[in-house]
Amino acid sequence: MFLLQLLNHLAPLYFLCLLAVTLSLQLFLFLPDMCDERSDAVPLSGLLHSFFFLFLLVNTLGNYILVIWNSPGAGGVSAEVELPDRTICRLCARVLWDQEHHCFFTGTCISRSNLRSFVLFCLHSSLSCFHALVTGVGFISTNFTLSFCDPLTFLRLLPLSITRFFSGSLVSSDMLVVLMLYLWFAVGLACAAFCCHHLLMISTGPSSHKTQTTEQNAPTWTENLQKVFGKQWLLAILLPRVTPKT
Ligand SMILES: [Zn+2]
Repeated sequence: MFLLQLLNHLAPLYFLCLLAVTLSLQLFLFLPDMCDERSDAVPLSGLLHSFFFLFLLVNTLGNYILVIWNSPGAGGVSAEVELPDRTICRLCARVLWDQEHHCFFTGTCISRSNLRSFVLFCLHSSLSCFHALVTGVGFISTNFTLSFCDPLTFLRLLPLSITRFFSGSLVSSDMLVVLMLYLWFAVGLACAAFCCHHLLMISTGPSSHKTQTTEQNAPTWTENLQKVFGKQWLLAILLPRVTPKT
């Protein structure tokens, strides 16, 4: 229980640190690097990257706050209670129903009330990581005069950077960018996998619902998705929105 509580505090801290480092690198290293020093005008690529970066930042942070804001809260289930065939979240003291789980990164249970914000948080976190990865690769290829056309360059980059760093020919900020490239790649893939897994679960519907309905009146996968994301699902992807209370 102590380890779970520790993880429940460390995981949000890890997310906030990752966000702070990504934000600092984007604002103080990548975006200024895209601007031409000889000219005051910001190039189109810089403007596009700034817009995309702001869009992803607002959506990632907005949905993260909404997941916590709409959390189901404590269920009042005692830690000693044993329920057959039911999992209990000891941290939130509540029974976990179909398709529910505890997310350590937000420090709360994911239920119907915050599922939409959670899936969108995973989606935008994944896109943020891949956007940072692309801008980071652009920064490294310019400053290292490296071509990433060969996929093996990504594998050779880490040993090459470590050698250069310890020989004194690579500054700490560049070394940090190289390490972050691998972290963004791993976190981006994990968030994308989580997002796809939940989309698949939502589209198939809760298992308890399946046993109560016959083949004919079982809801389709689009109806299941619409129940969570609503009819204005595109607007929900573009802007973090509060889930209406049902
Ligand atoms: Zn929980």
